[in-house]
Amino acid sequence: MIPFSPPRIDDKIINEVTDTLKSGWITTGPKTKLFEKKLTEFTDSKSTLCLNSATAGLELMLRWFGIGKGDEVIIPAYTYCATANVVIHCGATPIMVDIDEESFNMDTNRLAQAITKRTKVIMPVDIGGLPCDYTKIYDIINAPAVKQQFQANNEIQKQLGRILIMSDAAHSLGATYKGRKTGSLADISVFSFHAVKNLTTAEGGAVALNLPEPFDNEELYKFLCVLSLHGQSKDALAKTKGNWRYDVITAGFKANMTDIQASIGLIELERYENDTLVQRRKIFDYYNSVFKNDSRFITPVFETKDKVSSYNVYLLRINNISEAQRDEIIQKIFNKDVSVNVHFQPLPLLSFYKSLGYKIKNYPQAFDNYKTEISLPVYYDLSDDDMKTVTDAVINSVNEVLG
Ligand SMILES: *Cc1c(COP(=O)(O)O)cnc(C)c1O
Repeated sequence: MIPFSPPRIDDKIINEVTDTLKSGWITTGPKTKLFEKKLTEFTDSKSTLCLNSATAGLELMLRWFGIGKGDEVIIPAYTYCATANVVIHCGATPIMVDIDEESFNMDTNRLAQAITKRTKVIMPVDIGGLPCDYTKIYDIINAPAVKQQFQANNEIQKQLGRILIMSDAAHSLGATYKGRKTGSLADISVFSFHAVKNLTTAEGGAVALNLPEPFDNEELYKFLCVLSLHGQSKDALAKTKGNWRYDVITAGFKANMTDIQASIGLIELERYENDTLVQRRKIFDYYNSVFKNDSRFITPVFETKDKVSSYNVYLLRINNISEAQRDEIIQKIFNKDVSVNVHFQPLPLLSFYKSLGYKIKNYPQAFDNYKTEISLPVYYDLSDDDMKTVTDAVINSVNEVLG
């Protein structure tokens, strides 16, 4: 069976984890701090906080910004549930926007009409690793009429004086937009290091800070370390340095990354750009070479004049098929020992969001992309033979179902 996305665990990773386990320091410590520093350099952000998940990072930053009841946060309808759930945890309302057909990303042509005087945050999601149109998003929120109707409810919101752009960059570490890396494109970008993501720490995430003047991103980083560890003025490492006494300054969260996780991340990051991304690109190119000139298929966009993807999900679509046909094709692919997936079910298709009143008929593009989509395996150890096994399985299954 060809799996969908197993992690790359080799001796280098195992040795680094062993080193941490034997060091006597397994929770947040020197390796987490080093990983944060390397991520800041890699993403060209101003500061980076590592946490135990992207979900925790998204929620932490919504809470830092003071998001609560009565506030609206704009998200795409086509994303993983985490994007919406963090908004709901804060008591605010997710406003879903339909997607653009080609990129699978939030349709910026529909964004302006979703903004109201209650809008506090926009959370674009770089689906599959392809960055959103950040220039266009900033042009929309910086338009005088939009800025004027922004209602600041606290000092932080007053300081920003406009809608916050927090990118859900769970898929897009290392991707670029107009030559700039994700992490430096939005006010805040949140990466995921979950086991199936491009770079993994088993579970984990990072918040890349890139807030404009007068924010001090380094000061904010220090505050977020406290906020993500019970509001404790000193973490465990600081307490070992002589003065045991600490204070609690707010009812903080518990979302810190451990040095065990960071040791996986350090090795993953070291070889990310010149090895991981190169291999993923090779797989994308191979899949494209097979499907691109076959009119039954629509291949995903992973490079344009302005954008280069991080090749996280290969979002293949099959022209003019029904949802049932797609599911039948997936079953046939599985029967040929190849694991595939669907990314994603638009949120309005899922029971919980339905119960809140979201209706899929309001997101026709999201539904259309979803019903014809099949995500193919992409991972470091996928061999050339495996790639051919995958494409043969897809083509044969499509032939069987569509004749
Ligand atoms: C994986 C994912 C997340 C959540 O990441 P975790 O690290 O598991 O919390 C958020 N958004 C999107 C789009 C994702 O795919």
